[in-house]
Amino acid sequence: MTGSDRLVEVLPKAHLHLHFTGSMRVDTVRDLAAKHGIRLPDALLGDWPPRLAKATDERGWFRFQRLYDAARACVRGEEDMRRIVREAALDDAAEGSRWLEIQVDPTSYAPFVGGITPALEIVLDEARAVSASGEIGVGVVVAASRMRHPLEARTLARLAARHAGSGPGEVVGFGLSNDERRGLVADFAPAFGIARRAGLALVPHGGELLGAQSVMETLEHLGPDRIGHGVRSVEDPQVLDAVAAAGVALEVCPGSNVALGVYADPEDVPLRRIMEAGVRVALGADDPLLFGSRLSSQYTAARSLGCSDAELAELARGSILASRAPDGVRRAALEDIDAWLTPSSGKPAGPPR
Ligand SMILES: [Zn+2]
Repeated sequence: MTGSDRLVEVLPKAHLHLHFTGSMRVDTVRDLAAKHGIRLPDALLGDWPPRLAKATDERGWFRFQRLYDAARACVRGEEDMRRIVREAALDDAAEGSRWLEIQVDPTSYAPFVGGITPALEIVLDEARAVSASGEIGVGVVVAASRMRHPLEARTLARLAARHAGSGPGEVVGFGLSNDERRGLVADFAPAFGIARRAGLALVPHGGELLGAQSVMETLEHLGPDRIGHGVRSVEDPQVLDAVAAAGVALEVCPGSNVALGVYADPEDVPLRRIMEAGVRVALGADDPLLFGSRLSSQYTAARSLGCSDAELAELARGSILASRAPDGVRRAALEDIDAWLTPSSGKPAGPPR
């Protein structure tokens, strides 16, 4: 069999970088907009996916945020929130994901459901319900925003800590998202301290819009288990080595990087350099609603970068090992990744001779 015969859609994997709003199907956001009488921006009504401006400059990021905010404004209550979790899980499962850690900032939905606690509990409850099917387990990452005051991050960390656990429908991690150029990483250290004491995985964004120095600051001040993106650590070999030495995994999202202009071309995404440095990688889709590609497309992108099937399997193992998936899920997924690599798997068996 040649490498390309193995289907990435059936390679077992975990998905560790997916935002709640950004996970939406485009049809879903259009449905919700119609339901609530909201006019979506043309970019979400016309040809999909939308063409995004280069987000590494402030104007491009602002335009991306405006689209994101428009999508988020269509989510107005429990029913909508449950639909998003359910569809994200089903879409993930259809692409071979055994475990999803969906990232949500409950602040955005709190006004519609009576506060951040009910907002988080709705997400957790639906995560539990969809996990009961047995196809996929869904854990939740509570993400604070860099655009808000660090005290709000502490409030969210305490909320996350109260729901901390290691199974489906529990909070498994604490993140920090949004424009890296806002706020000082060090100011969020107390919030990450609360999350650390609760045993949560610490998964802040860094090294996407800003370079290697932002990765170093994230390592020093937040003590992360994983970093969202972190791709720009390759700009300083010492930082890349520090990531490897700290055993920190990077959630690399090739489709997102290209859509936002962090890299001009798919072949510029430094995935192989990160892997060669001995850094564990978990591929993620980030915001499929705006970037137009879901989880398995990230593995296809890795294949286009020259990854062999053995390396794709290593990426899938990385995603499982960097996750907070329960032991049973991990064991089964790792075994099935090995099976995917064996010569007879990955496509239907041929007729008997
Ligand atoms: Zn992200």
